[in-house]
Amino acid sequence: MRGTQKKALDSITFAKLNSHKPVVMEKHVYIETYGCQMNEHDSERMLRLLESYHYQETKDPKQADLILINTCSVREKPEHKVYSALGRYKWLKEKRGTIIGVAGCVAQQEGDKLLDRVPYLDMVIGTHAIPMLPQLLQKIEVSGERVCETSFDQNGKYLEAVLPEKPVDKVKSYVTIMQGCDHFCSFCIVPYVRGREKSRSSREIFEEVKHLAKMGVKEVCLLGQNVNGYGKGLEEEISFSELLERINEIEGLQRIRFTTSHPKDLSGELIQAFSKLKKLCEHIHLPFQSGSDKILKAMHRGYTKESYLEKIDRVKKACPSIALTADVIVGFPGEEEKDFEETLDLMRKVQFEDLFSFKYSPRKGTRAAQFQDKVEEKVKQNRLSILQGIQKEITLQKNQELEGRVEEVLVEGQSKQSDQDMTGRTRSNKIVNFEGDLSLVGKLVPVRITKAYPHSLRGEITSAQDPPICNLRSAIYNF
Ligand code: SF4
Repeated sequence: MRGTQKKALDSITFAKLNSHKPVVMEKHVYIETYGCQMNEHDSERMLRLLESYHYQETKDPKQADLILINTCSVREKPEHKVYSALGRYKWLKEKRGTIIGVAGCVAQQEGDKLLDRVPYLDMVIGTHAIPMLPQLLQKIEVSGERVCETSFDQNGKYLEAVLPEKPVDKVKSYVTIMQGCDHFCSFCIVPYVRGREKSRSSREIFEEVKHLAKMGVKEVCLLGQNVNGYGKGLEEEISFSELLERINEIEGLQRIRFTTSHPKDLSGELIQAFSKLKKLCEHIHLPFQSGSDKILKAMHRGYTKESYLEKIDRVKKACPSIALTADVIVGFPGEEEKDFEETLDLMRKVQFEDLFSFKYSPRKGTRAAQFQDKVEEKVKQNRLSILQGIQKEITLQKNQELEGRVEEVLVEGQSKQSDQDMTGRTRSNKIVNFEGDLSLVGKLVPVRITKAYPHSLRGEITSAQDPPICNLRSAIYNF
């Protein structure tokens, strides 16, 4: 036995942690994050938990006493990334005795096997074990044992917020509202590594957002693998759109976003929320994955090309200014040329602002991994290039349509390209760079778009004061 922990998760509170933790010198943690927003948010939560345990973040792994590799297995080549990151940090273990851990989906899926394969790995933290991080770390520090915690927590403790105690220097924050998925799409690993859908109570979410707004956060992005499924299994009766209505009332908060929605579960109520709720930004990410009914069926997506397009029509009617983005997979087993053409047809019809496009690659343990009719790698690559070429043109054209208009921009900070420039996002989630100074951070400013690029916009602040926050395209006006 090498110290592997398999017992159910204990309930953890800050009070308990603080009362039992030993007095330690301040230490440093370096977190390397791969993948989706949920993972980014988990890394943030781990940092906050570790702050209460005398760890400060460092951006330099060489300075770190603890290195955590937090991975997602949904979109990346996850195992490859984990092992290559672990290889990079082996010398730090040997030279400085750095504690090394793996968290996230790969940790959840591989569990003990990771410890077997990597003798210098100290810790494996499954997706539900994040609240246990300080306890696990303490165990390693005190006894030198290697630990692995991958139990699924039935009580929802893993969803609890880790709130900042002092004002945050960030304009935006993620807030998890639910986790897991009941859909079991044939290509997807999420239900196996994040568990079944579990929602947090609306009161907890409301209090978290209120707290964040008080700490200076202006925009929240509500996170869940299937936010449309919010409310399922809760004692209270509440839908996702009702939750949005409540959050819309929070003082100090300026903007609300959410991700991700499943097209099958997109309700009429939620569609209407875009034209009703002033703080809800006009952007929806609605993955379609394929335009072919045959492939959608094999993917077990639960909708057809036609029904997806119908929903898009309803969304556009309710909110003509809405920005649409999506995920799409090319080269799914059995995808023929005509299926791929259906995908291109769908994207031309919808005119997405942007697309996250991927070549299909099997995920161990999913049903599609067993499918026989594989598409050749070079065919997949070719299809991906064609699709991305078309989308690049659409995106640029959409960006060019904004030239000369004024958009409401939430200023996020200094641009990475120039000290003179600030950067922010429009309500439709487009990046805008413009001349300005740090006093603008956290403010909503009207910016006239002067130049469109494939991935961003250039603009200048106009003299117009406080453009109206409006949910229709009239929020953007020509001067
Ligand atoms: S809806 Fe499908 S693709 Fe999305 S998380 Fe659930 S199983 Fe995965």
